[in-house]
Amino acid sequence: MDLPRRVALVRSAQSIRAADRLPSNSGRASRVHALVDALGLSGGVAEIEPEPLTDAGLAAFHSDEYLACLFGYGPGEASGSEGSDPDDAGDALSRMEQFGLVDDCALFEGVEEHVRYAGGGTVGAARALVDGRAQVAIHWEGGRHHCRRGKAGGFCFVNDVVLGILALQTRFERVLYMDLDVHHGDGVQDAFAHSRRVLTVSWHLHERGFYPNSGGGYDEGRGRGAGHGINVPLRRGIRDDLFVRACTAVGDCAAQAFAPDAVVVQCGCDGLAGDPHRAFGLTADAYCAVVERVLGWGPPVLLLGGGGYNRADCARCWARLTAVACGASVAAAADVPDHRFASEYAPGLDMATAQPAIADENTGESVEAAIQAIRRILCPPQARAELP
Ligand SMILES: [Zn+2]
Repeated sequence: MDLPRRVALVRSAQSIRAADRLPSNSGRASRVHALVDALGLSGGVAEIEPEPLTDAGLAAFHSDEYLACLFGYGPGEASGSEGSDPDDAGDALSRMEQFGLVDDCALFEGVEEHVRYAGGGTVGAARALVDGRAQVAIHWEGGRHHCRRGKAGGFCFVNDVVLGILALQTRFERVLYMDLDVHHGDGVQDAFAHSRRVLTVSWHLHERGFYPNSGGGYDEGRGRGAGHGINVPLRRGIRDDLFVRACTAVGDCAAQAFAPDAVVVQCGCDGLAGDPHRAFGLTADAYCAVVERVLGWGPPVLLLGGGGYNRADCARCWARLTAVACGASVAAAADVPDHRFASEYAPGLDMATAQPAIADENTGESVEAAIQAIRRILCPPQARAELP
């Protein structure tokens, strides 16, 4: 009989509070963890308290200039002439714009704590895999895939995914990154675009005007990283069966051709049918099926969060994924246990996420065509002949 997997869940009361303050996902982390606990899943995991990342830790990816602006150590801050000179105010604004700290990434109270814990949690989870404490490590407050070395974007002030992959590379030669978020994983793809040691694969809605307007090319790897920046652009409204087909067919091919030593899955669940984006028509069953498949490949797995703006459905999805990681399962029909947020799961009060209400613009043929095109990139005929 198989021994149960060693699963680590990275969280602490403080890290959950820090994540709760991110305006785009206000209060989400506490819902996710309260549901995980109410379902009795914490008994199957080892809890690891995240350490907030230091400046040096963040600088493994981010530029000093960006961190200085983000944490308010910039010249505008130190001068003490706040607001007194219109030129200074203009300079401060253009500085914020330069680093992307405007609009959806405007600074907020608690941003520094959020950034240090989001980064530290994912790095801590990666280290649990590196030193063998865990075979699966989970950090639901991670997955901030849009942030660049020197620029915030798409509600992401830190790219904990890149920091986590860098930590994994201290032991694991080849890392496969899978991005299930409805938005293209542009920040992670670009960070490793020139690398042959990281294969990034992003499944996302690709449509004119849909953020971040990238990820339309099947392979966006560059130079030596050619063939290692894979995208699976999908159309609006995709349902569970086609999404799972796209993820498992491309994922299996990537796992076979690339032979990763570790796998990172960004489980952004803004593709759920009940998400306010109304972009994909997925239920949590799809995410569970994909993660189940990845866990079956064998290498250690790092599971991260990401987007997901329907708090109750996101909590349902990630709680069920926590169960999947532990080798257990929570059925969609199961009741939401009584706990302090239980009333937010009305009227259904069960674990089922919303059913799709929009049309599916994908067809079996359109998805199959993408799968075949990507298979030819990942596993060209000459390489295929060399596979065992
Ligand atoms: Zn997203």
